[in-house]
Amino acid sequence: MDAVSGLAAAKRIVVKVGSALLVGEDGADRHWLAAFAADVARLRARGQHVLVVSSGAVALGRRRLALPKRTLTLPEKQAAAAAGQSGLMRAWEEALEPHGLAAAQVLLTRDDTEVRRRWLNARATVETLLALGVVPVVNENDTVVTEEIRYGDNDRLAARVAQMIGADLLVLLSDVDGLYTADPRRNPAAEHLARVSRLTPEIEAMAGGANAVDGVGTGGMATKLAAARIASAAGCATVVTLGRRPAPLLAVEEGQRATIIEPSTTPAAAYKAWIAGSLAPTGALLVDAGAADAVRRGKSLLAAGVRRTEGHFDKGDAVVIRDEAGVEIARGLVRYEAEDAQRICGLKSDAIEGALGYTSGPLVHADDLALAAHAPA
Ligand code: GLU
Repeated sequence: MDAVSGLAAAKRIVVKVGSALLVGEDGADRHWLAAFAADVARLRARGQHVLVVSSGAVALGRRRLALPKRTLTLPEKQAAAAAGQSGLMRAWEEALEPHGLAAAQVLLTRDDTEVRRRWLNARATVETLLALGVVPVVNENDTVVTEEIRYGDNDRLAARVAQMIGADLLVLLSDVDGLYTADPRRNPAAEHLARVSRLTPEIEAMAGGANAVDGVGTGGMATKLAAARIASAAGCATVVTLGRRPAPLLAVEEGQRATIIEPSTTPAAAYKAWIAGSLAPTGALLVDAGAADAVRRGKSLLAAGVRRTEGHFDKGDAVVIRDEAGVEIARGLVRYEAEDAQRICGLKSDAIEGALGYTSGPLVHADDLALAAHAPA
């Protein structure tokens, strides 16, 4: 896979846009944004889903509030972010509007991408926005996060968001056109790497020290590699390319220099492995033979086929699914908390709303199910 085919084939693309690209001396760089919006519109018109992770709130806000040039304290940064985020969104809206595209502000904290229940809520919102044809514009919710719990850089936030929505491509628009074997500005012998099929320690050491520039933004090459590592494990490829040119995505499509870091798995397999392996189940659902059969065939688990629940769980927790003989057949993320799940056992889907006053659909959706490795067929 090279960057050209990676971009052409991707179904879902997360593009990280840094402050240095967006914010000039006089505020948001509307020329750059207009050209980039055309880039996004072209991808959308081809049916690709695009989500933007945009920095720039602090940089815009500090100008707006005329804060001093020195390093800001955290409360000052938070104030700047609060003042700058609205201007940032206005700039995105103005850029996307001529293409008939609406922008939607999504502000996330690290907990939103790491605590499962919040993660599921955030994912549901972003999924709905994408289905509605809107361009989600994500930033960290700098105003409410403290030093210990913030991402601080949007490269890793973008990688987590890519993981959250099962993106197959993460594009990091940077101030260099990819990874090099050494810092290209200091070492003329530095070679550009067009394709990295695995993030080996050698690659990390080679590229890790390069491009640790301090600019308006936060991330250097080290945070880009950290982001690529998260993305790769989530089944998502990463493209690092030069952002400071009009329509940088078109430039990648036309074969301009970029580095693609290939994923080590697929998004679906990574997600199922996460459900199957890294979550501690807190409860169980005992299902009848028909439901066990349906689950084994990759269908959602409906309340009608569940006999009873065991243990305590919240909406979004991992649960074990057992057949009538008590054998584990799958694990999945449950869409109801334990008490509500127990109340709807045996009910047809259209009776759930009457029983609970709401419905969240099947007890466990097929997308959120991972079959036990040796479940008998
Ligand atoms: N969230 C910060 C902002 O919008 C930027 C973080 C970063 O530069 O990566 O200003």
